[in-house]
Amino acid sequence: MKSFDTASDRLITVDRTACIGSGMCTVYAPGTFTQDEEAKAVVLTPSTDPDDSVRTAVEACPAGALGIVDEA
Ligand code: SF4
Repeated sequence: MKSFDTASDRLITVDRTACIGSGMCTVYAPGTFTQDEEAKAVVLTPSTDPDDSVRTAVEACPAGALGIVDEA
């Protein structure tokens, strides 16, 4: 799953196969990530979190399931 955040020119990616549903991303960046009925991460757009929060969430994911690419 890839989601381009037009508000910040970031491409935020979730590998839903790798996601183990820990919810860490929703703690660090609740304006960017939520979880579906399977507890898998879903990207919200536009993201309302500052860049630092999104990057912290990406780094905190225990499964390495998140990615961020600057398109600008
Ligand atoms: S932190 Fe990683 S493993 Fe946990 S819900 Fe988010 S994407 Fe999934």
